[in-house]
Amino acid sequence: MIARTEVVERPPLLRSVNPATGEVLGEFKNMNETEVLSAVMKAKQAQKSWGFLPFEERAEWILKFKEFIRKNIENIADVISKEKGVSKFEALISDVFPILDLCSFYAKNTEKILKKEKVKIGIWEFIGRESYIEYFPYGVIGIISPWNFPFSIPVGQIVIALMAGNTCVLKPSEFTPKTGIMIKEIFDNIRLPQGVVEVVTGDGYTGECLVKAGVDKIFFTGSTFTGKRIIKIASEKLTPVVMELGGKDPMIVFEDVDLDITSDAAIFGSFFNTGQVCASVERIYVQRKIFNEFVDLIVEKTKKLRCGYSAVPWEYDVGAVISEKQLLKIKEHIEDAKEKGAKILAGGKIKSLFVEPVIIANVDGRFKVVSEETFGPVLPVMPFDTEDEAIQLANDSIYGLTASVWTRNIQRAKRIAQKLVYATVMINDNLITHAIPQVPWGGVKQSGIGRTHGKEGLLEMVQIRHIHINKMGQKIRSPWWYPFTPEKYRFALSLTNLIHSPYLKEKIESLLNIIKNIGKVSKQHL
Ligand code: NDP
Repeated sequence: MIARTEVVERPPLLRSVNPATGEVLGEFKNMNETEVLSAVMKAKQAQKSWGFLPFEERAEWILKFKEFIRKNIENIADVISKEKGVSKFEALISDVFPILDLCSFYAKNTEKILKKEKVKIGIWEFIGRESYIEYFPYGVIGIISPWNFPFSIPVGQIVIALMAGNTCVLKPSEFTPKTGIMIKEIFDNIRLPQGVVEVVTGDGYTGECLVKAGVDKIFFTGSTFTGKRIIKIASEKLTPVVMELGGKDPMIVFEDVDLDITSDAAIFGSFFNTGQVCASVERIYVQRKIFNEFVDLIVEKTKKLRCGYSAVPWEYDVGAVISEKQLLKIKEHIEDAKEKGAKILAGGKIKSLFVEPVIIANVDGRFKVVSEETFGPVLPVMPFDTEDEAIQLANDSIYGLTASVWTRNIQRAKRIAQKLVYATVMINDNLITHAIPQVPWGGVKQSGIGRTHGKEGLLEMVQIRHIHINKMGQKIRSPWWYPFTPEKYRFALSLTNLIHSPYLKEKIESLLNIIKNIGKVSKQHL
């Protein structure tokens, strides 16, 4: 039984609601422990055959899945756009489009990356040994995902898990259960064997049940707060985890930039998906010489953003925030900034769940909006003078997800990148790298543990098995086996000197000793 810390009445159903319009999109089960266990059991059963399918067959399934998505891309984007209350254009480019490339990459490369490899074992090779590394799947991967990219985040992890031979159980966010069920329906549509991908809808408690249900690894994407809680629970069974957590990503702008391009990028990086991106630009540091001009530009451009929601994919730029809870956090950060003397230079009007994108100046590290993850359309801008100061300000955070450096001087940018304590540093770009499946995604410090995507993300989905072969194992005994004897002791000393003595004379003497004693030593046995 799962011991619950708080006994609260849980509604039997979750309601999926478009946060922009209030339209109810459907009702979904708020699953309990028994239902979660049953899904995990199905996935365990299915893994017994899925795990032994040849790579080509798994790749065929993934490419079928990809083709289904391509053909239905607009319908899929529509479901996501409604459930998140953002434009269909945004849903299409961020949540669906990147998955197609990801499917191709892993369908094509998994076998190559997971190929069995021989390990060089030095002196051991001279005494008839060989070692290999091979990879095998964990079994069932539990995936717990957030609402901000309810398709691309879990689907990316599912595809990688399946290619590696695992089966999966996904717990989508309670704000996006419809997208979660849609993922299951796509796999059902291509007739993927039952149990290979299971989806359990529900709230945080359902997620907790999944962590406790005997899955073999957890891939969690969400807040640092929840991540820490999950690590505690997972530690009871030593279930391994990959954690993709929060961020407070800095953008450093040097005085030599193209102001027009860089200000566009700043706004897109901050307000895309209504600022609800783990890798959003959440603070900008601008070199003092261009500070005023840059701020004027981003203020002017921010005021042009169209905030709203409609079925026309391109009618609005910035959609709703996901929930009342999220809105409260945004308001709290704006209020804290105002109280401490910040200047609101643009936006800030709030109507239902829409927040007009905000530019804030006169702030520093003491402000919540600079030190804590806001996860909304709020952008603080601050000046800096020197390269060292910019690096120090950017690194002054508990997070380390992504950072970006903007300059025409690529050498300088590369030099700075080496000093930024971030898992990803982009030069003259931001936001984009989660959409590039070939490269690893993850965080350092409190932004996460482990990686998804890239070769590194694939290796997180498998365990390592070392195969060691003693080619002489059926012919001679090892000289260190029982019984211990004076001859074996001397033999060990000679071997040590043969291998490690820097002196040729000592090496030759040791070798002669070994040759003289090897017959005797090998005959000494129990
Ligand atoms: P949460 O941490 O609130 O929730 C994430 C998931 O965990 C949801 O499915 C949630 O369910 C579930 N959950 C909540 N409580 C528990 C629990 N006790 N045990 C198990 N599962 C639980 O994050 P948000 O959904 O609000 O997402 C926003 C956060 O995610 C931000 O901090 C953002 O930076 C981060 N994020 C990180 C990314 C990365 O790659 N590093 C990418 C995207 C987002 P429910 O929704 O039902 O509460």
